Amino acid sequence: MIARDFPEGFLFGAATSAHQVEGRNDGCDWVAWEAKGGAKDRSGDACDHYRLYPDDIALLRDLGLQSYRFSVEWARIEPEEGRFDAAELRHYRDMVDLCRKVGVEPIVTLHHFTLPTWLSASGGVLAPRSAELFARYCRQVAEALQGRVRWVVTINEPMILVLMGYLQGVWPPGQKSPGDAVRAARRLVSWHKLAHAAIRGVDQDMLLGVAKHWIDFRPLDAAKPVHRLGSRLQHHLFNRWYLEQVKSVSDFIGINYYARQYATSLLRQVPLATPEDPRTEMGWSIAPDGLRAALAGAAAYGLPLIVTENGIACQQDEERIRYIDSHLAAVRQAMAGGADVRGYQYWSLLDNFEWAEGYRPQFGLVAVDRSSQRRTVRESARHYGEIARSGRLPGAND
Ligand code: BGC
Repeated sequence: MIARDFPEGFLFGAATSAHQVEGRNDGCDWVAWEAKGGAKDRSGDACDHYRLYPDDIALLRDLGLQSYRFSVEWARIEPEEGRFDAAELRHYRDMVDLCRKVGVEPIVTLHHFTLPTWLSASGGVLAPRSAELFARYCRQVAEALQGRVRWVVTINEPMILVLMGYLQGVWPPGQKSPGDAVRAARRLVSWHKLAHAAIRGVDQDMLLGVAKHWIDFRPLDAAKPVHRLGSRLQHHLFNRWYLEQVKSVSDFIGINYYARQYATSLLRQVPLATPEDPRTEMGWSIAPDGLRAALAGAAAYGLPLIVTENGIACQQDEERIRYIDSHLAAVRQAMAGGADVRGYQYWSLLDNFEWAEGYRPQFGLVAVDRSSQRRTVRESARHYGEIARSGRLPGAND
């Protein structure tokens, strides 16, 4: 028998988020933001995944994948403050049940960037009671999904939300205020803590964690002390600070890794070291060793890890194949070095709404023709599915 490169039970899967794929998510702050011209496209019908999810989950399973990370949408579940919609909760319970029925492990995210408009209108993350409101919503979801879900991500990329929404102002709420950014970051720590307590009160078996975006910061010029100091400072503020705050109330850490960035001053960085460096369609560096370093760094917290996102936007699908192979090799190396990694979720299952960038970037294992909603399975999806089925990496040789 040929030895596997990844252990039996390792979850090879793919990820999406509600607003990026479902369509007609009209009660959330992003739709209002898009209407004001904040994104290159309007999300509109997206991939119509709200309706087509049974086909998409079947497709994922047929590819050979074993897990599906998706998010439930707060704006649908609580369309008005304090009114929870039983039909929407049932919708997401049906998604979970379908995953289980076809042998796919659901990984459910409770918050993936969007807020109900009633909350954004009253201050969003910075509204005085936002953490209590988030926890109350999480409790409702936990009651609906009780006993059905093992892996639960409370918040997707809290520090990206802070960066894009409160420092750079390119996502809702569109602020550029360091003071508010600090307040939002602190508040999102309370979100996780209160959500953890609320969910634990309902279901003791759900494993709770955040999906933490991790950037592999390096000095652009290692000979310059300010570059070295900048990379250490940014690493601490962006990668570690939030995890330090929530590690004692987490059962696992999700790592979303995409790229390396090079510090050029205390707080500035560039995505590429040289113009010749390999890059994705987003202009991000391609640096698989950064994923190994991220997992090795996160392993120091002593919790199980899951790669909750990793992926590439590209026009040539062969690039995606190379990206997946090289990044999975990095995961394997991290595991050989002692990191307890339980799974890898490719971002994304489908070409989808890439926030302010609209529909142009193509991250999908599966292409989506949005006028017909036809799905076309890419070669990279078959390639990845084969790895998932066999647990073996092409070219690995021990
Ligand atoms: C987010 C996704 C996004 C992806 C690619 C992550 O930061 O969680 O929603 O589409 O990166 O940019």
